[in-house]
Amino acid sequence: MQEIKIVPNPNPQTKPNDSELGFGRYFTDHMFVMDYTEGIGWHDPSIIPYGPIPMEPTMMVFHYAQETFEGMKAYRHDNGEIMLFRPYMNAKRHNNSNTRLCIPTIPEDDYVYYVKEFVKYEQEWVPHLAETSLYIRPFVFATECGMGVHPAKTYKFMIVLSPSGSYYAEGVNPVKIMVEHEMVRAVVGGTGFTKCGGNYAGSILAQKKAEESGYSQVLWLDGVHRKYVEEVGAMNIMFKIDGEIITAPCEGSVLPGITRDSILHILRDWGYKATERLLSIDEIMEAARAGKLEEVFGTGTAAVISPVGELKYKDEVAVINNFQTGPLTQKLYDYLTGIQWGRVEDKYGWMYPVK
Ligand SMILES: *Cc1c(COP(=O)(O)O)cnc(C)c1O
Repeated sequence: MQEIKIVPNPNPQTKPNDSELGFGRYFTDHMFVMDYTEGIGWHDPSIIPYGPIPMEPTMMVFHYAQETFEGMKAYRHDNGEIMLFRPYMNAKRHNNSNTRLCIPTIPEDDYVYYVKEFVKYEQEWVPHLAETSLYIRPFVFATECGMGVHPAKTYKFMIVLSPSGSYYAEGVNPVKIMVEHEMVRAVVGGTGFTKCGGNYAGSILAQKKAEESGYSQVLWLDGVHRKYVEEVGAMNIMFKIDGEIITAPCEGSVLPGITRDSILHILRDWGYKATERLLSIDEIMEAARAGKLEEVFGTGTAAVISPVGELKYKDEVAVINNFQTGPLTQKLYDYLTGIQWGRVEDKYGWMYPVK
């Protein structure tokens, strides 16, 4: 890793109140930037004042969407320590995304070091109030200018930080999900397993359609048969049917969530049968009719665990656990957020100190 050049912001903002943060609305006074040039590699890591970046109309990211990103959080513990959650998983996944999109990778140790040093520099911005955190958004994009599809020769790696409020201001609340049976998000062989902006661009229409019908997110089915459940918007999804917890396997079209991995780990440790397998929407609706669809929840960094209270597939609606957060869903939420905020012993060694 290289030494980080620092240019302090001469006009720091007044920080927002911890109780009014919301999600992704405020950004800290600085941003991290590092450039890549073919033949030189990654160079000039810097922390500079947050602000506009130079760009040209012919920059390749605008035309061919060579762009990837990550999402993670820093948590302030009661003893004042600031902690990251499994940051090497993000570094590795970002590199997997980069490799698929022909973007140069960043050594994992360097990646985690830059994230950590930047968070340390902006540590005053990690909110103090319970259930709040500093959301970390690293991203990479092609900066070479010109037409013609080929891997770019220059890139920027950047990190921005956003103090974020409690996701559940009024306690953990179930959401309504609509199963999308026409549009698809990803196919095996495509980019479904990567975090790239392109995946999201193609998903916005279905998301808008669901919202117009009063549903908060879309549940995607597999791209070939439109039969097997894959994931939700920006979350993986798990179904508890007759005591067993089932989630889609990560075999190319599903994003391998770090929350998903952590929850599977905890469930197995607790003695639950947690299975990664193809699960058809028909099997789920059938289980709901038979009263065996006990709990459904999404997993992702932003909400950690998001209980699902209602699933709509074509003309059929399944209400789950009387639209109440299920006992296992609540227990998982309390345990995993307990580890993240330092209220529960970190027996897996998942927390990584920023110091
Ligand atoms: C980021 C993301 C997830 C969740 O991953 P986490 O590492 O748990 O935050 C799930 N699905 C998609 C499409 C995502 O982009």
